[in-house]
Order: sequence, then C-alpha cells, then structure tokens
Amino acid sequence: LFETAPPPWELAVADDVAIATIVFSEAPHGPYDYRIPDDLREDLKPGMRVKVPLGHRRKAMIGWCIETKMGSSASRSLRDVAEVLDDEPLCDPPLVRLVMWMSHYYQAPAGQVFDTLIPSSVRANAGTRERTYYELTNKKLDDATIESLPAKQQQIIRTLIAVARPMTSAQIMVEADCTSSPIKTLEKKGLISSESRREMATSSPMRWQLDDGEKETKHDLTDDQTHALEKITAAVDSEEGKTLLLHGVTGSGKTEVYIRAIEHVVKFGRSAIVLVPEISLTPQTRGRFERRFPGVAVLHSQMTPAERHFQWQRIRRGEVQVVIGPRSAVFAPLPRLGLIILDEEHDGSFKQDTAPRYHARKVAFARAMSLKVPLVLGTATPSLESWHACNTGHAELISMPSRVGNRPMPDVQLVDLRVRDDRTSGAISRPLHKAVQETLDDKGQVILLLNRRGFATTIQCPSCGHVVACPDCDMPLTHHRDGGKAVCHYCDYTIGTPPWCPACRFDGIRYGGLGTQRLEVEVKSRFPNARVARMDGDTMRRPGSHQKVLSAFRSGEIDILLGTQMIAKGLDFPNVLLVGVINADSALHFPDFRAAERTFGLVTQVSGRTGRGNRGGRVIVQTFSPEHPAIQAASRHDYEQFAHDEMNARRKFNYPPLGSVARIIIRGTVEDVTESTAESLVQRLEQAREKLGHEVRILGPAPPPMSKLRGKYRFHILLQATEPGPLGDTIRTATEKFVIPEKDDVQYVVDIDPIDM
Ligand code: ADP
Ligand code: ZN
Repeated sequence: LFETAPPPWELAVADDVAIATIVFSEAPHGPYDYRIPDDLREDLKPGMRVKVPLGHRRKAMIGWCIETKMGSSASRSLRDVAEVLDDEPLCDPPLVRLVMWMSHYYQAPAGQVFDTLIPSSVRANAGTRERTYYELTNKKLDDATIESLPAKQQQIIRTLIAVARPMTSAQIMVEADCTSSPIKTLEKKGLISSESRREMATSSPMRWQLDDGEKETKHDLTDDQTHALEKITAAVDSEEGKTLLLHGVTGSGKTEVYIRAIEHVVKFGRSAIVLVPEISLTPQTRGRFERRFPGVAVLHSQMTPAERHFQWQRIRRGEVQVVIGPRSAVFAPLPRLGLIILDEEHDGSFKQDTAPRYHARKVAFARAMSLKVPLVLGTATPSLESWHACNTGHAELISMPSRVGNRPMPDVQLVDLRVRDDRTSGAISRPLHKAVQETLDDKGQVILLLNRRGFATTIQCPSCGHVVACPDCDMPLTHHRDGGKAVCHYCDYTIGTPPWCPACRFDGIRYGGLGTQRLEVEVKSRFPNARVARMDGDTMRRPGSHQKVLSAFRSGEIDILLGTQMIAKGLDFPNVLLVGVINADSALHFPDFRAAERTFGLVTQVSGRTGRGNRGGRVIVQTFSPEHPAIQAASRHDYEQFAHDEMNARRKFNYPPLGSVARIIIRGTVEDVTESTAESLVQRLEQAREKLGHEVRILGPAPPPMSKLRGKYRFHILLQATEPGPLGDTIRTATEKFVIPEKDDVQYVVDIDPIDM
C-alpha cells in the first residue's frame, strides 16, 4: 500500500492546468508559459504554431509550441492560448529538440530557428486549396428512405454508397450526372454532410524532368569502395550514431559508395539525407540517384513555393527514401531517418550567412547523434575540423586513395611568377600559354580558374611576391583606399601603406587583382579561334544558365571554360586535358586563417577536373609563392602533409579546430556611432569574461575586409577560446541586457564558428 500511494508532497500540488511553452521569433523571444483552454487541449501538440497575447501588443502573436505539460494554476496567473494554427505538428519532437539546441548554440531566437527549419511555403500552405467533401450522414440508410427521394437525389445517395468514400461536388456531379442543387438539398435534409479539407492543388507540380540521357550501370565495387561500404553499413547496424570521414580522392567513386550505403538503410525501411553544395546538384548527380531509388526528393533554390511545399509533404509522409539538397535539406522531416551524408563536406556553402548562422555539418552531426544514426562526411580535401575529429577519436577515417580504374592523378606544374622570363604583360604566363595552345591543337578542352574574392585587396609585391602581414595575427593586411592605410582586420593593427616592398625594395607594389572579364578579353585575343565561355557570379545570374554552359561544354561546343571557383567543383568531363590556375595567391593571401586550407582545396578540386578520361590531364598553377606548404602539398596531391603543416600553423594562434572562434558583426548607418557601439560591446564582453572567469581572447573592434556594405558601416569583434562553451557563455552574458537605442540605428549579429572572416 505504501508503495502504490503517491507521497504526500506530490499531492500538495494539484496539476490542474494544461500548460504550453511558447517561443517567438521577435523579441521578447520567450520561452513563456501559457494556459491551454480545455477546448484546445486535444488539438495542441509541440511543434505546432499558436496565436497568443504577448507583452503589451494589441495583436496576438504567432509563436511555436515547444512543450505541453500539466502544472498548477495556484501559483501563477497564465494567459491563454488564443488559437492553434496547425492541424498537425510541423516538427516532430526530435526536431523540436534540434531547434532548441541550435537556438542555444548559435544564440538565435528559437522562433527564428523554427522559421528556418520549416520553409515559408509550408507555413503558408503554398499551392494548396480548400475543397469540400460530402459523405453520407448515415451509412446504413434503408432502401425505403432512399426510394422515397426524387430520382436525382437517389442517384447521389447510391453513388456515395457505391464509392464508399467522401466525394467533392464536382465528382458527384459527374458520377451521378446531376447539378449541384440536389446535393445542397440533401445536405439541408441532413442526409449528407460536408467537410472542407486543405490539399495540394495539383498532384505533382514538379518542373524538373528526369535526365535519362545516360544509363546508370551498377558497377562492381573496387576494393576501396567495398571497404568503405563495409565500414558505413557496420555503423548503420551498430545503431550507435557515429561520424565517418570518407576521404576519397577526386574520381575515387564516392557517389557509388553513398548509393550502396543508402540501399542498405532503405532495405530496413529507413531513409537518408544527402547534402550537397548547391552548385554540384547537377542533373547528372540527380539522375544517378533517381535511377537507383523510386522515391527521391530533390530540394534546390529554384523551386516554386508550391513545389517546395509538395516535396516537404511527400517527405513527411514517408514517401521518399532519399532527400538530396543543399544545407537546408538537413532539416528534411523524414519520419524514419537512417543515414545522413554530407558530400564535399569542406564546402563553405554549408554555412548559412544570415541568422541563424548555422553550419549544416554541425547540425547534421547533432541530428544524427540524437537519432543514433551515422553521419558520413565525404570529400577529397577534408576540412581541418573533420580531420582533427578523426585524430582525436571523434570520427572514423575511411580512405579511398586511388581513382577508379587506377587512373593516375594529373601532373601539377607550378609556374613561378617571380621569374621574369615566364611573365607576360597579361595574366597568362608563357608556359600556360604554350600549354593551352598544345591542348587546343590536340582537340582537348581547357578550364581556367581565376579565384577572386572580390573586395579584399591584399598588398603583394609583384616582383618578389612578398605579402605585407600583421605581426600579431599573421594575417595579410588589407589595403584601405581611403587614407592610404593598411589594416589588420582581425585586431585593427594599422600602418601607412608602404610605398615600396619592405622585403625587396621594389617600388611598384600593387593592390588588387584581375577580374574574370579582363581575363576573358585576354584569352580571346590570345586564342582567337577557340570558343570561350565565362562562368562567374555575373554571367550565371539567370536560373538555368549554369546548366546551359555546362552542357555546351560537355558536348564539346566550348573549348575554353574560364571562371571563378564555381567551375572547380564536381564537374566530370573526360576531355578536359588542361586546368590552369591563374593566380593561386589570391586565395592564399586572403586575410582569413583558413586561406591556406581554401587554397589547397581549390587547387586540388580544380585539378580533379582533369585526367578523368583515357587521355590523361595536367594542371598548371601560377603563383608568386611556389614554396608555400599549401601549394607544395597541393602540387603533390598530399593532403596528409598539408594537414600536418597547417595544424601546426594554427596551433601557434589557437585557431580552429584547436580552439573556438566567434565573431560579432556590428552594422550601422553612422560610422562613429557604430564604432562606439562596438567599443561598448567589447567592454561588456570584457566584463563578462571577468565575471565568469573564462579565458577568452577578445580582438577588435576592427573593420572587416568589406568595411562598408550596402550603405552600412561595419565593425567586427573576434573572440577566441580553447572551448566553445566559455565563448558562448561570455557572449550570452555580455549581450543579455545589451540594448542599443533605436535612434542609433545600429544592429549586431552573433556568428558562432564563422567561416568567412
Ligand atoms: P568522386 O565522387 O569520388 O569524385 P564519382 O563517384 O563521381 O567519384 O566516380 C567517378 C567515376 O567513376 C564516375 O563516372 C563513376 O560512374 C565511375 N565509377 C564509380 N565507381 C566505379 C566502379 N566501381 N567501377 C567503374 N566505374 C566506377
Ligand atoms: Zn592583427
């Protein structure tokens, strides 16, 4: 008796009211508790939207329910939930937990995270319409009653009995050959009843067609592929949740491994997400999956709201086995998720550059671990974060060191731009010119990569290649046109622009670089008979233009394809016999601690575009810094050497992955108000650090490389620590009650684990 009776102290508190915890996307963000009125109790579940009063606002606000529970009304006076907006939760409980984790980690309002997770097209019911359905009120109507009705009404009743499910008036009118008036009469008599339902306006609003130009042959796996697949399926079967880094050189056949791994989870009725950089979502990639699985949902940025909503519903109903898409596909509401794959895991597009500034790799990790399913990260050039995770036992490394069919990796030749005899007045050196000419003579195709990261103008000596850098951060200084200053945008170290090179005294130091447009002009005049196409942000604005150029290149209508990093990724064209990198230094000397990693990745990726057929391929890299470890390692396809050197370089300054970094960007319309706001934020951060006793390095405020953007002045503050926890706590504490007067017109945004600095 004693055991079954609840202890008296629990009886003292009567759980007499149902409570919903609600979060918002606008300040104040919550979470706040509300009372659920009795008539809404059955309807409201976590993951649904509600309308509730908030603060002193006259209008009810839309919020997201994260929890429902029973509580006592004695101690608190709660306001009521006014309305429940959804029939079904838009997020299942694991996704609600993911939202709350993201909100905490990225310091973003939970309501804003929900709005990111659930596409606006879903929230707005895009592409749906209300339809009215009729059914019999009494399913067992006796014949006598039916026969007493007029003929048309009888026919309607008999039709509904025969069809045995609710029908729209249009359907009834066809089947029973009647007008709408006898339907209305029957409803008035109470013999049939109506119910309106929201449904998709068309059954399939898809626009993209399956590209079946090619046959998908199921290859016999290579030994490397077999080994990789075994590791992944073992991780699936273990149900532990594990991260695997699939480090496979370009052309090693990673996609085939993904497909087989997904086949393994699909066998058990489960499904998978494949995340890819938007740019590599070509019809070929898509086709490879669609030919192997009956239900594939492809998400991309050019979908109409109706398409997006339609796909989301299909996914949620469990009708697809595979979802392929860019970073936001990590939120795909698959009911039985069994595997997440992130292809090209090093790619910067997995980080969202607007709030909430999440990284799909980190979110994928959180989601996979909470569901105890594997996360597979695939790449030829692992991010140092993932590499470090393998070295510290947080991830398992799987290597695929050779290309399918044992095709050799292409030869990489470095052209030293400091050598006067090789230089020309243009962007293309003599050795590169010669190589392009030979390739064209051989009827081969050429890719020329001009990496430009726009605005940042590094100060580099064109004679010796020396780069002017900050003594404290080791970052290249950035040239600021106004006032002839050279500034470290990490710590604000500033000097006057040097009139001559500090290393070799050459007095023609130059700023900034060459654009793709000028390169196109030069290429056309050097090779007047070649068919040239340019691919960059300017020429690829229109949807579909990317595909158009690529298919023209594939079919051999273009000889030379030149462009920005857009052309470095994922293309598989066997007739590309030469890849030229116009200036490897523009990526290398960008003021970002990941510059070397990007350069290594870029050179490796673009090298991977050649040597894919039987005719081999070669790569020419033009640089002022041929001895730089990143360029050396890239020229030998030696990732491990690169990772080793780079890890040592980062250790010196505690840069990630050895430490954590966060950034706060402050924007405003008036320069000195913006700067002084940034300064007072720094003071608060310093106070918070003191109070918490954390070891956090606070740098700045300093102007970022793009210090004025869209009419707003920008400053940023960098924070560094060995662990993410103290960093997050310091920012949370400092910003908790930091309110900027509205008249100042200054905003700030927190960026945890920034990747573009
Ligand atoms: P990665 O993604 O590693 O760069 P892919 O998956 O694109 O490589 O494969 C490169 C090429 O090799 C593709 O054309 C693919 O069809 C082919 N391929 C993959 N696996 C095999 C195999 N086991 N045998 C023969 N060809 C294969
Ligand atoms: Zn500095």
